Amino acid sequence: MESEFQAAKPILQKLHDRGFEAYFVGGSVRDHLLARAIHDVDIATSAMPEEVMMIFPKYVPVGLKHGTVLIFHEKLGYEVTTFRTESDYEDFRRPANVQFVRSLKEDMKRRDFTMNAIAMTTTGELIDFFEGGNDIARKVIRTVGEPSERFSEDALRMMRALRFASTLGFSIEEKTKESISELAPLLAHISVERITGEFEKLLMGDYVHKVYTLIVATGLGKYLPNMASYEQKMECLSTYDCWKLDKLVERWALFLLVLEVKEPTCFLKSWRLPTKQMKEIHLIVEGVRNLHKENWTKLKLYEFGPEMIESTEKVRSVYQNQQSNHETLLKKYQELPVKSKKDLAVTGKELLQWLQKRGGSWVAVYLQRIEEEVLNGTLQNEKEEIKEAVLSWEK
Ligand code: ATP
Ligand code: MG
Repeated sequence: MESEFQAAKPILQKLHDRGFEAYFVGGSVRDHLLARAIHDVDIATSAMPEEVMMIFPKYVPVGLKHGTVLIFHEKLGYEVTTFRTESDYEDFRRPANVQFVRSLKEDMKRRDFTMNAIAMTTTGELIDFFEGGNDIARKVIRTVGEPSERFSEDALRMMRALRFASTLGFSIEEKTKESISELAPLLAHISVERITGEFEKLLMGDYVHKVYTLIVATGLGKYLPNMASYEQKMECLSTYDCWKLDKLVERWALFLLVLEVKEPTCFLKSWRLPTKQMKEIHLIVEGVRNLHKENWTKLKLYEFGPEMIESTEKVRSVYQNQQSNHETLLKKYQELPVKSKKDLAVTGKELLQWLQKRGGSWVAVYLQRIEEEVLNGTLQNEKEEIKEAVLSWEK
């Protein structure tokens, strides 16, 4: 058993000592069976949330309504969730009501896919009511119970099915897939934030190129934010080596380039991406559109900085199916006389002093000119020389 489980064993033990059941559940058990890296070890227990909080004095009630208490053991946090069932799904979204129960099977029944509904004991024994282990061995994604019921309860599960197809390389079981095709319109009821969350995991999957075809085939693509008019083009993405890109912003950028999205920021706003991320994606997309090998000027290298140079060049290489030139570009960047504004031997404040003028937009214009001249080598990055030049511009 992986060290992540070993480290968490004392928590389950403590719950056992008080007479409760406790198991490892969810993605960690699935990933353990697949011999994949484990991120968070989730624990399910028959103890009620109040009981969990009594047993573990150091806790954060992160999702008490859903029975989740975050507890700490050896400085690591673990989510301990009470066995529960769900009901009263409103508008095809997450349930309005949960009931805490003492039965593991009931808890497993409310989970989305068979591969995610396996419990594991501290000795590594599996409790698998729905043949999840078998589905993992066959690499199949199948809902626990009737797919149409499960997708109508929570339409996000359809996105999750595709997300897992992308990250695990599994296929979606026929009936489950048919049901997605039928119920795809229900995705319109799901909040953009939840869709984006799953979509970004999908984008980062090792098998994402295979999943684009599936998104179009099932019709789910139409219900993604702002995608109605781009949906068909998504199929083209399957011919690109998306897996060569390891950053999320790079995968987004390739996505927008292939879909030929004219205004990246406007498009991404409908996906509610954070501003910083939108700016980076925009920079990469416009970089690929405008910068070819020969026109990476010193000024462009300076403006983009090392991270964005590397990302832009990598995306370009995948987009145009050519070798990436980022190492040469990064070398050129390293040779620049200044790497960022703070390397300039002059500040805006000094300009004000030298010229005895009041502040205004001219300061930025002057600084930019200094930057350009320093980068092009027509001016040394030295205070006295810059001062002389600036004073001469005034004449
Ligand atoms: P990851 O490795 O990406 O964290 P995961 O399977 O752990 O994958 P989570 O979103 O962390 O996915 O959810 C944890 C578990 O909760 C799942 O394995 C599944 O059993 C259950 N679950 C999560 N979301 C849903 C949902 N929408 N409907 C039903 N069960 C769900
Ligand atoms: Mg998880």
